[in-house]
Amino acid sequence: MGNSTTRRKLLAQAGGMAGIAALANSVNGEAAYAAESPSSIPDYYDKLGVTKIINAAGTYTILTASTMPASVQEAVARAAKHPVRLLELQQKAGEYLAQRLHCEAAMVTAGASSALTLGTAACIDVRNQCAVQAVPMKVSALRRNEVLIQKAHRYSYDHAVENCGARLIEVESLNDYQRSFSERTVMAHFFNAAEGGQISREDWIRVAHQHGVPCFNDAAADVPPIANLWNYTQMGFDLVTFSGGKGIRGPQNAGLLLGRKDLISAAAATNNPFDEGVGRGMKVAKEQIVGMVAAVDWLLSQSDEAMEAEFRARADRICSELKSIPTLESTIAVPAVANHVPHLLLRYDQQRVKIAPLQVAQRLREGHPSIELNPSTGRREGSAGLHSDEHTIVVGVWMLEPGEDVIVGRRLREVLMSAAGA
Ligand SMILES: *Cc1c(COP(=O)(O)O)cnc(C)c1O
Repeated sequence: MGNSTTRRKLLAQAGGMAGIAALANSVNGEAAYAAESPSSIPDYYDKLGVTKIINAAGTYTILTASTMPASVQEAVARAAKHPVRLLELQQKAGEYLAQRLHCEAAMVTAGASSALTLGTAACIDVRNQCAVQAVPMKVSALRRNEVLIQKAHRYSYDHAVENCGARLIEVESLNDYQRSFSERTVMAHFFNAAEGGQISREDWIRVAHQHGVPCFNDAAADVPPIANLWNYTQMGFDLVTFSGGKGIRGPQNAGLLLGRKDLISAAAATNNPFDEGVGRGMKVAKEQIVGMVAAVDWLLSQSDEAMEAEFRARADRICSELKSIPTLESTIAVPAVANHVPHLLLRYDQQRVKIAPLQVAQRLREGHPSIELNPSTGRREGSAGLHSDEHTIVVGVWMLEPGEDVIVGRRLREVLMSAAGA
């Protein structure tokens, strides 16, 4: 007698809904899961005592970056209901993304940082014709193991390239770059949002290709504009990565690796579920793969103009809460490449409004609800392409949920007004 026949018989005997529920609970633990109603599920942030914040900062990983739009959340929730064959999902998601993003091939990675490691590993494997197991421990002994990078493009994320055991070779001028290619060169790496560097994207690609070397562009935070999702592959970069959980608003632990078919195949071969590649620990579950695809669909249904208008409207609503603050001046700053969206900058005379921007940030953090301003607030180093200083409050408006702009405006008004002695 099959399991379902048994169940049906038992259910028929039990009779009535209460009986069925009781039976489900006693006979079969799995059925008890199914009987759980959504209203019985606690808010786990509350249960754990974790503070929910208003994100007036931006897409910072430390603040859990973006939230997923409703359609993406729904796609993730639906994906969670069904097991599938992982390789089939990876392959079909990749084909779909490649078609929508106008590139040869694509894969969903566990974020841009993972994509840097997987893409570098792919270049090493393809260019040395070696097995995936070579990365990272045997790479120093391989013929090709050097990655060229502009000195001004060195950044915290290049560690993800070095995770493959490759050696970074710094170059400065175009001449320098041309002379640095050798038998050992395996890849040329470009940091798309770098603020310095003498060598253009076009020259970077052209010279590398003269030497048959693949070029990688890290454009993790460089959407919007939406068209950047294909601009760089079409420009000739062999690999391009975007973070899934920043401007694309997909799952925080997802990202895109786009580019040449042979390299994407090699990256997939070194990724999970295969146990011996450098990517085995960079697992992307079915929910996040589907969520990444849904987020791309969502973003492609948006327009840059509408997004920009919305972000400016949020900044306006915040400013209109602040009209009464003496000496306050507001401007809008749009960073050049990364985080290329309107940010609200507020300045005031600290002789008149006696509080430093860093203290304002602290007050907002400690308040209810807890608000995080952009970390460039009160800092000369700035962050994310924003140029700030110790006299400036920076409000990142693009990750605010509906209605939160007014809450941020009111809290700023309270804190600034009390410092103005009003
Ligand atoms: C955020 C970022 C990354 C890492 O992205 P994740 O998706 O969080 O792994 C890599 N490179 C740059 C330039 C970034 O801004």
